[in-house]
Amino acid sequence: MKNHSRWNESSGPSRRSFFRIGGAASATLATGIAGESWFALTTRAASLPRGPFPKDAVIIDANENPLGPCSVARDAISQITADAGRYSYWLTEDLIKQFAQQQGLKPEYVRAFPGSGEPLHFTVLAFTSAARSYVTADPGYEAGMHAAKIAGARVVKTPLTPTFAHDVKAMLGSAPDAGVFYICTPNNPTGTLTPHSDIEYLVEHKPKGSIILVDEAYIHFSDGTTALDLVKADKDVMVLRTFSKIYGMAGLRCGLAIGRPDLLEKISGFSGWNSLPVTAVAAAITSLGDASIVPERKKINASVRADTFAFLDRNGYTYTPSASNCFMLDTKRPTKEIIDAMADRHVFIGRAWPVWPTHVRITVGTQVEMEKFQAAFREVMQAKPVRIVAPQSRKLWVNFDGTHVPRKLTQSV
Ligand code: PLP
Repeated sequence: MKNHSRWNESSGPSRRSFFRIGGAASATLATGIAGESWFALTTRAASLPRGPFPKDAVIIDANENPLGPCSVARDAISQITADAGRYSYWLTEDLIKQFAQQQGLKPEYVRAFPGSGEPLHFTVLAFTSAARSYVTADPGYEAGMHAAKIAGARVVKTPLTPTFAHDVKAMLGSAPDAGVFYICTPNNPTGTLTPHSDIEYLVEHKPKGSIILVDEAYIHFSDGTTALDLVKADKDVMVLRTFSKIYGMAGLRCGLAIGRPDLLEKISGFSGWNSLPVTAVAAAITSLGDASIVPERKKINASVRADTFAFLDRNGYTYTPSASNCFMLDTKRPTKEIIDAMADRHVFIGRAWPVWPTHVRITVGTQVEMEKFQAAFREVMQAKPVRIVAPQSRKLWVNFDGTHVPRKLTQSV
């Protein structure tokens, strides 16, 4: 499969060697950055312990974009390669100016990083501590929680609202000592939006000295309203953007932090300053310069997502009403066995969040990939029951279709 060739047996790096690196890195991870690739790999490690992905793998477990960089970005990468012996830091300034101009911001409100995972990590380090907690949604993207633990901060997790938005009133109520309120909209993993009015409410009512960190990694897939207006109004708000998602550049590494210069300065105290990969910056500049990329890719993603949801509706499964490139699917069974059974069919899904033990995250791939997902999922869910999901004391088993069966009517597995 073309998009996954970098991972296959003939041309990709060995997954075994990657895990060796991962194993060595796990000691330093206690104090370092953890991002989606790491979280996804830990799930993959459980279901695919040895070797690279199979050639026919459908990889929909890390919220990557199967389309990769757009064609103008690929051309830009080819062209810049000859000059890649130089740091060319001025290209980063060009990128910042271009983004700032497009969004009506002053360039000093924008900083570029190799991905948005870095500013996420450093912002949490800069604004949380043993005395200032980190407040987030559950289920929510875990990278900030990891950073908060490093900072010695209390991590406060609040359930999503019934419409799967961040519950800003619960967030405020549970952390008068907050240093950072993390709002991921659309949320990873549910793909659901938090209304702009709720973010404004949070800004108006937050404790003094705290900031709102709005992660807009997936915003281009949705019709959500950006929080950049709050940055322009000089509020205590930091916005994160990445080129990893709609622009398909996860492996190239480019992201932006947008905030008041004094807030950005605090991050710099942790991140320092270094050059970015020129290939990533050149690709980001050309991607921003092509106005057709976001609407085209948004349309493709929405259409594949709608087709997947129609399949799930027809078959009676529930899922979060995502506006993004991922959603949570209720399998009504323990997620590990579903992830493993799908992996046996070369469809790699995941991850799972402990708070929702029967839900698994699915990334929206290409139409062809999602048709393979549908076929494999149908097969897995129709496989012979029964695995236990309810505690034994309840004397119930749960069938694959979600119906409960008294234990005495089932055979042990
Ligand atoms: N924020 C969210 C919500 C994400 O899901 C991710 C990656 O999946 C990131 C930030 C970081 O992405 P990157 O470091 O690739 O820009």
